[in-house]
Amino acid sequence: MQNVHTHVWEEHLHLAPFFVKEAELSRGYPLDMTVRYADFMSDNACFERVVVLGAKARLNGIWVPDDYLAAFVAQAPGKLYGFAGCDPTQSGYLDELRRAAEDLRLSGVKMMPMYAGFDPRDPRCDPVYAYCQSRGLPILFHTGTTFNRQAPLAFSRPWLWDDVAIRYPELRMVLAHVGHPFCEECLVVIRKHPHVYADISALFYRPWQFYNMLVAAQEYKVTHKLLFGTDYPFATAQESIEGLRQANRVVGNSGLPYITDATVEGILHRDAFALLGISS
Ligand SMILES: [Zn+2]
Repeated sequence: MQNVHTHVWEEHLHLAPFFVKEAELSRGYPLDMTVRYADFMSDNACFERVVVLGAKARLNGIWVPDDYLAAFVAQAPGKLYGFAGCDPTQSGYLDELRRAAEDLRLSGVKMMPMYAGFDPRDPRCDPVYAYCQSRGLPILFHTGTTFNRQAPLAFSRPWLWDDVAIRYPELRMVLAHVGHPFCEECLVVIRKHPHVYADISALFYRPWQFYNMLVAAQEYKVTHKLLFGTDYPFATAQESIEGLRQANRVVGNSGLPYITDATVEGILHRDAFALLGISS
């Protein structure tokens, strides 16, 4: 199994206190956002390969430096693959991106349009997309809602990436969290673009929404575009896997359609790294 969505940070160095406080809305109770290497590795023991995301969004006080991320993933080469954060509202973002890819050898890019306050169609993103497309670097985007008061929902809608994918047809993109709660909007975007995927991280704790998303994915025949991720430390591997395998619990005797085993195990065992072209 592979995990395409995890986070690392030094909470007090890289996250503003107001961001940590607002994160309580994520699960509805205070979260321990501390990430320790040993705990991280133990939670991810069941995965052969793991994407570890950087995060840069000055607007919301989030800044995980590329060097920190590179040092973290260097502790487990061949298992951990870092995606550098990129905030195109900040000066020097292109130099940072090139350094992350060419000097630090990070494997992809993470962008957070709504947290950082930019539209993914913003012209400042074009050099990032062109660079990543030409070098075969995948970009994982936060899509869908969040808990931060300062993060504009307008930049979270999955349909915004339709325009990006039309203009950059070879760019590998992952739309995180299936753009919740705009999941169907996300599914129709990934259906029409061969290299655009969605990850199902952090959705199982809304079982009704999660179930409906999976049914819609089956009906649109896009389950092969869904990738597995946990969003650690927001959720653990075990609860994420169990949440997926128990997605039919809400059906009961209702006669509602079932999520098939092929859908569930397909998501869990998909070779996301091959699809995204992550090699080093
Ligand atoms: Zn996340």
